[in-house]
Amino acid sequence: MIIVMSKNATRQEIDNVEHKLSELGFKTHPIIGDVKTVIGAIGDKRLLNTHAISSMPGVENLVPIMKPFKLAGRELKQEPTVIEVGGLKIGGNEIVVMAGPCAIESEENFLETALKVKEAGAGILRGGAFKPRSSPYSFQGLEEEGLKIMAKARDITGMPIVTEVVDTRDVEMVASYADIIQIGARNMQNFRLLHEVGMKSKPVLLKRGLAATIEEWLMAAEYIMAAGNSNIILCERGIRTYETSTRNTMDMSAIPVVKELSHLPIIVDPSHAAGNWKYVGALSKGAIATGADGLIIEVHLDPPNALSDGPQSLRPAKFAQLMEEIEPVAKAVGRSMTVVHK
Ligand code: PEP
Ligand code: MN
Repeated sequence: MIIVMSKNATRQEIDNVEHKLSELGFKTHPIIGDVKTVIGAIGDKRLLNTHAISSMPGVENLVPIMKPFKLAGRELKQEPTVIEVGGLKIGGNEIVVMAGPCAIESEENFLETALKVKEAGAGILRGGAFKPRSSPYSFQGLEEEGLKIMAKARDITGMPIVTEVVDTRDVEMVASYADIIQIGARNMQNFRLLHEVGMKSKPVLLKRGLAATIEEWLMAAEYIMAAGNSNIILCERGIRTYETSTRNTMDMSAIPVVKELSHLPIIVDPSHAAGNWKYVGALSKGAIATGADGLIIEVHLDPPNALSDGPQSLRPAKFAQLMEEIEPVAKAVGRSMTVVHK
């Protein structure tokens, strides 16, 4: 339920309504606007005595939230959420590009890649220290050693870092290194993990599950928000379809649909969608043209010898070229690509 307060409601009246709602067992999410304040009341609506609330001083009216994703949806919060990470804004006018290898393989390799993607204009550094591999025999990542390498690369380049957590037991550790915590496609409905990252204040990059509907994806975001963390960046990374020419099918339609349903920023991962470096450029440009707020792209110094996802990784020179090609597309849709490092 949304409680719309009247234009001249006082602070005390807003507090009283919030207090009453908490007494009734509701979680309250006040959104203080320039003109009006609205209070989102999340809980079992059968317990809401609507008459008692609507007759309180300062209350204008009560509007039900129809969608199941109460906090992630546009009904409660219309204006877009902009997430600030290390001086960059995700979800504003600027297109933010995250780039780096699928997995951190060695310090030397990672640092060199970091400097190259920075030079090409990437704003955020990606890298996996915990890899959710389809085979238990594949490289599983350097774990904490990988996180330390990432932190070192951040110190050297000034770029914020995004990295995945795959286990609730590692959330504390990953959050202590990462600037953005990634939840991978395979864990999109790992509700304990979502709750755990929801208890942190670090931004979360929430990838769409391999076979998740947009509603299931937004409900996953809702889990994180219900636990207290509203700093979520959605990431479309392709879904499983009957098509086998690409690793996944990039759901371009998800971008405008999510923009309509949610205030959260959305970026696209063309690398995991395509599974082939040759298509990464076209999908990247399509994503920006369709309204994505950014991209996350896999870059490797020597893709044929990469320990994971080599076939979909761009060499640094190709990545630099792609960054140049994206710029006019961004401009054409009224966005800028300027990256400001702290
Ligand atoms: C990754 O980013 O390397 C990754 C494993 O992605 P996804 O969860 O989208 O498959
Ligand atoms: Mn990968």
